[in-house]
Amino acid sequence: MPFELPPAGPAFGWRWDNSYARLPEGFHHRVAPTPVSSPRWGLFNRPLAESLGLPVDALDRPEHAGYFTGNRLFEGSEPIAQAYAGHQFGNLTRLGDGRAILLGEHLAPSGTRWDIQLKGPGLTPYSRGGDGRAALGPMLREYLISEAMHALGIPTTRSLAVALTGEPVFREDTLPGAVLTRVASSHLRVGTFELFSALGDVQALKTLADYALRRHFPERAEGPEPAKALLEAVIERQSTLVAQWMRVGFVHGVMNTDNVALSGETLDYGPCAFLDTYDPSTVFSSIDRQGRYAFGNQPKITSWNLARFAEALLPILAPDEAVAVEVAQACLESFPGRFRRDWLTAHRGKLGLVTEEDDDAGLIEDLLAWMHATQADFTRTFRRLRPDLDPPALSAPDSAAPDSRFLEWHRRWTGRLERQGLPLPRVLDVMARHNPVIIPRNHVVQASLDAASQRQDWAPFHDLLAALQDPYREEGAVESLSQPPPPGTPRCRTFCGT
Ligand code: AMP
Ligand code: MG
Repeated sequence: MPFELPPAGPAFGWRWDNSYARLPEGFHHRVAPTPVSSPRWGLFNRPLAESLGLPVDALDRPEHAGYFTGNRLFEGSEPIAQAYAGHQFGNLTRLGDGRAILLGEHLAPSGTRWDIQLKGPGLTPYSRGGDGRAALGPMLREYLISEAMHALGIPTTRSLAVALTGEPVFREDTLPGAVLTRVASSHLRVGTFELFSALGDVQALKTLADYALRRHFPERAEGPEPAKALLEAVIERQSTLVAQWMRVGFVHGVMNTDNVALSGETLDYGPCAFLDTYDPSTVFSSIDRQGRYAFGNQPKITSWNLARFAEALLPILAPDEAVAVEVAQACLESFPGRFRRDWLTAHRGKLGLVTEEDDDAGLIEDLLAWMHATQADFTRTFRRLRPDLDPPALSAPDSAAPDSRFLEWHRRWTGRLERQGLPLPRVLDVMARHNPVIIPRNHVVQASLDAASQRQDWAPFHDLLAALQDPYREEGAVESLSQPPPPGTPRCRTFCGT
């Protein structure tokens, strides 16, 4: 593929320092975005641009749409597609950015380094059979849900812009094309390591581990066992991340190892969605027929993904293979206990608990089991729990009287709170900070995406995006956007690779 750069435009306040592009050949391919016929403005994230230190008013102009489709390049960017592999539904595959191009790394005024990536800018050497393009609906979905996750306080890549290409993309239907500008701490993945491990390139593994440590965990980079330090750090980040997903009922949907970011940010919003009724077997992805990535499986899959990471690191964990295996195993064995603690901390908060008792896990699990049995709404149930009021009707349908099982649980919980002794207003405050009022509910998300991409009616999307900015606040919450779907609504299906 010829490497031709579109003409560079003004700098717009970017401070590029493209460290990944300086890594050896084999880590990436230089490739320019493919210009589209008529770039048009879609969305621009002003608060994010501001936090990146960009001149917001100068950038946020419809005439600049071409920068966000890849028709024009910001001066100083050095576009590349990154090489990686990944276990997809359990099978190792050679991948790479097939429909994404990294423009470069921007240094924010705080000194933080951010990847600025276009998603959907055309073919790269890694596109395989794909078209390198993205449809508007899925890019709006990523924008909306990533920004919702950020507002929920969950580590995630961010979305700076969506621009329309003016060109159709051909999926099951013909859809409007779009390009998302993604902002991430980095796009290093477990799969990046798997690529060099599969190639048997130990030098590249060393280079990559060193790069990853310096970029994400500089405080651990100087120790005697860098690969082990990296493995431990990634295990910690994944544990806290997935515990937070479980706290808000988030189903990632495609936890392949190429979608596991070393930074611990949620990466790649494909067939993701949030629980309405609580059911650990919930899957939204149409291609996940076995339920591999179901809500309740996410901790186990994380453990599996981390084992693939440890395996990829084996050649650099210790000179002796048997020793390396021991080191890897010891690190991996820490995950279940660590995750249990992170999960407990998150869920204690949901129940207003700030102390620890042995039976806390039982208390939480019994509530979840009751919610599962009664098809209670996950978000609403936690938000309506009150230790000081008669137990409200929480199960579905909402009008049903609380059953004896729930009353019994409620007595246990209030007893536990009494022993804790924290004043009620503080209990309620802890609960309010752990239990969102509004999450991006699938039926609402889908309606807003359909309105924007099928009818050019962007109002529902903007209303929803605004409502999701302050998800823990009761006052002013828009009831119509936070309600569960009407009973009997079929579960939404979302599609991978769209
Ligand atoms: P995902 O399931 O979105 O994480 O994508 C998995 C792999 O497929 C990545 O390497 C993508 O770059 C690639 N891919 C997905 N969609 C396309 C597309 N439309 N064109 C080319 N490559 C794609
Ligand atoms: Mg991916």
